[in-house]
Amino acid sequence: AGLSDLTRGFRVKLVLLGDSGVGKSCIVLRFVRGQFDTTSKVTVGASFLSQTMVLQDATAVKFEIWDTAGQERYMADLKLHVQWSFDCVHADHRRIRYAALAPLYYRGAAVAVIVYDITNPESFSKARFWVKELQKHGNPNIIMVLVGNKADLHEYREVSIQDAIDYAEKNGMFFIETSAKTSDNIHELFEEIAKRLPRRPI
Ligand code: GDP
Ligand code: MG
Repeated sequence: AGLSDLTRGFRVKLVLLGDSGVGKSCIVLRFVRGQFDTTSKVTVGASFLSQTMVLQDATAVKFEIWDTAGQERYMADLKLHVQWSFDCVHADHRRIRYAALAPLYYRGAAVAVIVYDITNPESFSKARFWVKELQKHGNPNIIMVLVGNKADLHEYREVSIQDAIDYAEKNGMFFIETSAKTSDNIHELFEEIAKRLPRRPI
């Protein structure tokens, strides 16, 4: 059924944050198109995709998904660089460029999905960076979700489930481990998000 056939519905802006290579674009592609493309390059073409999910009570949720086109590392590194170089004459310039970039991306977002790779502890640190960033500069009502992706690579796990659960609990976040490759928990991720949403009309 299309959106117009349904009596109730709402839309939601969702942004993905996290280090390059953790699988953000693959998660989106798996959710929206049901595909996993091992040859996918950094951007996977689109930076905006939408998908409508119909909940059990026949409410339609239209996810408007913003996926970074590979500038995530740039945004985070620029911010760190600014913090480390306050004396630098260019610091203000960089700070302005940073301030213009990242908040534009997550402005108006109701949901931020912050992704790390369970085999990569550095990506977990980067996820914590994004959580702090959103706590400081994001919409105060934003729903933050922590996602440990590449769960199929559990043999190479370097971030424990317990560490992630503890961190998520402390920060009031929902946490789930996913695999874009096997599609494990991908649908569940968006279902759990849908349950937590404030509702505004389409
Ligand atoms: P992004 O930079 O965060 O958007 O990461 P991508 O979605 O481009 O994925 C980066 C790489 O990780 C690609 O080579 C994917 O094939 C791979 N990848 C993504 N998700 C998974 C997953 O769940 N399991 C495994 N094994 N590999 C994945
Ligand atoms: Mg990507």
